[in-house]
Amino acid sequence: MGYRDCLACKEAGTKPKRGLNVRLVFDPRITMPGSPTLEGHGLGAEFMAKRVYALGLRDQIDDYELTREQLLVCCWWAGTYGPRSLKKAFGTWAKTAGWHLWHGCINVEDPPLRESEKPGIPAALGASRGQPDA
Ligand SMILES: [Zn+2]
Repeated sequence: MGYRDCLACKEAGTKPKRGLNVRLVFDPRITMPGSPTLEGHGLGAEFMAKRVYALGLRDQIDDYELTREQLLVCCWWAGTYGPRSLKKAFGTWAKTAGWHLWHGCINVEDPPLRESEKPGIPAALGASRGQPDA
């Protein structure tokens, strides 16, 4: 069974897109209570999902040198198994995303952004590159 057989895409009439099979793991060497981490990266799924919800995908891809797929998987975990606040934020999105990801397909919509952040900071400021000062 491959990404081409993505039932979610079939249903939505979209074209399946192949993912790299990003995985989340529980690693005893990494202390991220309650949350699995991105394999080979050590970043907690819950931590990343919170950042995506507050700041969007693009900033996290740049700041942490992650792929979109890695972040989608974090958000999917958070919306499915994470704390209540993230289930509320990503739950509906994660249901659909999960169907794609289950088939190894990453033709998934961006996860929702926290409402209050949407109109917020002008793009020029919000997209400042490089390391944050904190
Ligand atoms: Zn799909």
